[in-house]
Amino acid sequence: MTIEVSSLRKEFSSPSGTITAVDGIDFSIDEGDFFTFVGPSGCGKTTTLRCIAGLETPTSGSIRFDGEDMTGKPAHKRNLAMMFQNIALYPHMKVKENISYPLKVRNVPKQKRYENAEEAADIMQIRELLEKYPGELSGGQQQRAALARTIVHEPEAFLMDEPLSDLDAKLKVEIRKEIQRVHDRVKKPTIYVTHDQEEAMTMSDRIAVFNDGGIEQIGTPNELYQRPANRFVANFIGNPSMNFFDGTVNRASGETVVVSVDGRDVELQVVDSTPVGVGDEITVGVRPEDVRLDRNDGDLEGEITLIERIGKQMLATIEGPQGEIRVTLPADNSYGKGEVIRLAIETRATHLFDSGSDDVVT
Ligand code: ATP
Repeated sequence: MTIEVSSLRKEFSSPSGTITAVDGIDFSIDEGDFFTFVGPSGCGKTTTLRCIAGLETPTSGSIRFDGEDMTGKPAHKRNLAMMFQNIALYPHMKVKENISYPLKVRNVPKQKRYENAEEAADIMQIRELLEKYPGELSGGQQQRAALARTIVHEPEAFLMDEPLSDLDAKLKVEIRKEIQRVHDRVKKPTIYVTHDQEEAMTMSDRIAVFNDGGIEQIGTPNELYQRPANRFVANFIGNPSMNFFDGTVNRASGETVVVSVDGRDVELQVVDSTPVGVGDEITVGVRPEDVRLDRNDGDLEGEITLIERIGKQMLATIEGPQGEIRVTLPADNSYGKGEVIRLAIETRATHLFDSGSDDVVT
């Protein structure tokens, strides 16, 4: 099935006035796509998902499944599976009754319901738990049972809203893999909502970056990382996040742009410099892994104010006239807090943003 969302808008009335939760968004999802909505809290992800599910009625715009207009259809007429943050297995029902519940509401006979529940349990590797009650299961087993319940009625698409946010880090990784395994097996479109960019980057075929009721950019994880459309996406995608500093273009020829930053000339390599001209006010974006610290060489200068461990690497914070810049370093580096050092920008694809609009210029 394909899902097509056009000019979707959803307003809520509240005592303080009208809230525009979703402000005219468009996207389409292909059969088999793992498509993620990512963005900060309150940007309209859940509302969009609920409109697709039929749990909210859009103020305007349309939702089509395989070309058919579903906008006014009630939730039970859409063959979708939903999984939310709260697992909500029914505590008084055995696991097999929980898993087969979506079939019960569709009036499937008991024998067939249990057969399908066993198949779904096999896929999730929890067959031995079918006769147990949810209270006897660990958190991870409950998640697997909940996943089995979403696949049991062979839905046309999966809608998942922050399904992992209540889990500890280790379990998160495990269930993430299970969700992907189910997706690879059933090959149905999946919409996954998260505010965690790392989760979005590891799981998705494509990602829509939401902000303030709109979509800033849609792309593959690589496209968003390497070619962010604007400063919001550049800042939101990637951890530790991109560094930004302001400058004025001094010279632009071919793929080299020289920018004046607080009186110093900084030479940058860009993918395509034609859109910038001498005198343009720009914001330079450079990722922490693309800056090199050096004791003698580099266009920028600053003092190391913090060195902290992030996983296998270290992250140094350098304060200078250009503002704060963060740089990843190998764990065995010899730099120390308080040292004044130079910074060289290493990447062949620096990001330049228009200082006014924050849109990428190259
Ligand atoms: P989160 O990650 O925190 O769940 P979100 O991106 O999913 O956020 P939504 O839940 O879609 O965001 O909310 C978008 C906006 O709409 C918010 O300002 C929210 O307060 C508002 N909103 C959502 N549902 C309602 C409602 N039923 N009535 C009034 N306002 C609502």
